[in-house]
Amino acid sequence: EAPVITIDGPAGSGKGTISQHVAKKLSWHILDSGALYRLVAYAALDKGCSFGDHDALADIARNLDVSFLPQQGGVLKVVLEGTDVSQSIRSESAGEAASKVAAVISVREALLERQRAFAEPPGLVADGRDMGTVVFPNATLKIYLTASAEVRAQRRLKQLKDHGLNATLAGLVSDIQERDARDMNREHSPLRPAADAHTVDTSNLSIDEVVSKVIGLYEN
Ligand code: C5P
Repeated sequence: EAPVITIDGPAGSGKGTISQHVAKKLSWHILDSGALYRLVAYAALDKGCSFGDHDALADIARNLDVSFLPQQGGVLKVVLEGTDVSQSIRSESAGEAASKVAAVISVREALLERQRAFAEPPGLVADGRDMGTVVFPNATLKIYLTASAEVRAQRRLKQLKDHGLNATLAGLVSDIQERDARDMNREHSPLRPAADAHTVDTSNLSIDEVVSKVIGLYEN
């Protein structure tokens, strides 16, 4: 069985960046599970499917025709039914929509095996909300990243700008708080640290410091 490092946490806690760096350092595969929920929401909106129609959403999740193509620098290109959607699924509205479809249990179930299939040798870094609690309960190492809402909004702002998207800090703080509340309070697979997770507050740490911490925990 391939070793798995799970990296869970709320929006903007640094999961994506840290996962990419750790995967690169170890030369492991990476699973961006949030992208799967973003894709389901995107495909549903594209097909005009209502978020209230859980059967149709689960169908979309089951039949998602997606490939993740590694690009230079470790970034993944996301191709949905032949179309490059890497940028479109990154918007705040796509994140909001993702968190709505992610509350639907049949969608989560439909994505479960697809996510587990990423655990191939030499190893997997899995980024998400329930990687350590539900998808990979036997992971080799479980990390839970946190940071203040203010710091997370700052990071999100920079990330969106890097993608050529616009947003305001105040808007992002309230978006983040709303998304946290939905992710933490939902009935199925709520966002919370696994009992055996190492919690790391990244508010005052650099990317390199967090990466070293994770690699150090893995090696010891
Ligand atoms: O991490 P990202 O912001 O891309 O995730 C988008 C949304 O997808 C989250 O707000 C959450 O509701 C959902 N999600 C989830 N479980 C995961 C990953 C993401 O419910 N493992």
